[in-house]
Amino acid sequence: MAKLEASPLDAPLEWDSPLFLMARAQFEQALPHADVSAMVAERLSFPERAMIVSVPLRLDDGSIRIFPAYRVQHSTVLGPTKGGIRYDPEVSLGECAALATWMTWKCALVRLPYGGAKGGIRCDPRALSRAELERLTRRFTSELVEVIGPQTDIPAPDMATNEQTMAWMMDTYSMLVGHAVPEVVTGKPISIGGSVFRREATGAGVVMCGERACARLGWNLSELRCVVQGFGNVGGVAASELHERGATVIAVSDISGGVLDPDGLDVPELHAYVAERGSLEGYDVGTRISNEQLLEAECDVLFVAAREDQLTGENAAHVNARLIVEGANGPTTLEADAIFADRGITVVPDILANAGGVTVSYFEWVQDLGRLFWDREEIRQRLADKMIDAFDRVWSVSEEKGITLRPAAMVAAIREVAGALEARGIYP
Ligand code: NAD
Repeated sequence: MAKLEASPLDAPLEWDSPLFLMARAQFEQALPHADVSAMVAERLSFPERAMIVSVPLRLDDGSIRIFPAYRVQHSTVLGPTKGGIRYDPEVSLGECAALATWMTWKCALVRLPYGGAKGGIRCDPRALSRAELERLTRRFTSELVEVIGPQTDIPAPDMATNEQTMAWMMDTYSMLVGHAVPEVVTGKPISIGGSVFRREATGAGVVMCGERACARLGWNLSELRCVVQGFGNVGGVAASELHERGATVIAVSDISGGVLDPDGLDVPELHAYVAERGSLEGYDVGTRISNEQLLEAECDVLFVAAREDQLTGENAAHVNARLIVEGANGPTTLEADAIFADRGITVVPDILANAGGVTVSYFEWVQDLGRLFWDREEIRQRLADKMIDAFDRVWSVSEEKGITLRPAAMVAAIREVAGALEARGIYP
């Protein structure tokens, strides 16, 4: 009992899942370099608020099913919280807490006036009809109405949620408060205040970071051979951006496997194929390879833009790239990270490389609040300014501290939040 009083960290809390403990371990690894007070370190170790609800859904056959659902808000130090809503059988309080924590660091790193949040419903979205998904989304939104809002917490799409989900959330929230509130969510359809360039933002930001990293290493991206894992929203756009910059995309893959051509793939033709067939399956120009082979293919830059846990202690020694850029969240395990550091392979970490998505979400929120909309080129330029500024700050911390880019990005992010928390202090 005395021990419990000494530190709440000694007793497991409800959100202490392996993923949340990994997020906390990364935070604790960066702390010695961040030079923050004990108050800041302890406060930011915990999410500020977590909500668990059980959402009843009337299925199409008339029966009722209950779904557990969550929203975790990690930090309101810099402003309202921001983060996605996912529909997935794995969604849990601990997963949301970890992802909310990473969102705090990502937003702080690119200097957005937000803290991190994440939420979702534990369900199998493929087993639900469109009408069921709509009712589930609307009821979940009504359960969340007390904790979300344009000045409190702004949801966005994540796994298995999309523009339509955000439109239902925006409409439900607006009905409940009595007037249209487009700024309560981002990632909406353009017709209700969504932003042009939001769809391309993450992939474009990934390539902006990759290009900057190449420049810092004394290379020219347009002369390099690139491999892209994942051909969805992030990887597909990244492949197009690389192609447009004159880089040679020698391999791409999706869940169905990969395709390799050392002379370069025709990226527009790949997109046309996927648009028609739904995936890369059956594409027969070049050599068919597995995802394992793709990750080990000889190249200059490897973009991992599929999902978590792809570069591990098992395959990191066989990776044949000189630079790795993380479009996905959490694609590199702690073991793989240590191997890449030993081998001198630079890794541009996720909280930096894929921050373009939340950055353009922030632009969407600002445009909605001001009821004044920017054009594509303005958004692209503002995104480039943010990404390059963040990249250069991380690079400087890395040089100054003699650490790799991942802890350097964490240090840069923690310092942003710490400065604000010291200034605000603890209430009362
Ligand atoms: P998506 O569903 O549009 O695309 C995912 C792609 O990866 C698909 O081509 C899929 O076939 C492929 N894939 C899935 N599992 C694979 C596997 N085991 N091996 C190879 N390919 C596989 O998703 P997305 O929005 O592009 O997100 C990809 C990653 O980027 C996720 O980690 C996501 O959290 C992260 N991310 C996305 C955004 C965004 O704005 N969309 C922002 C930040 C981070």
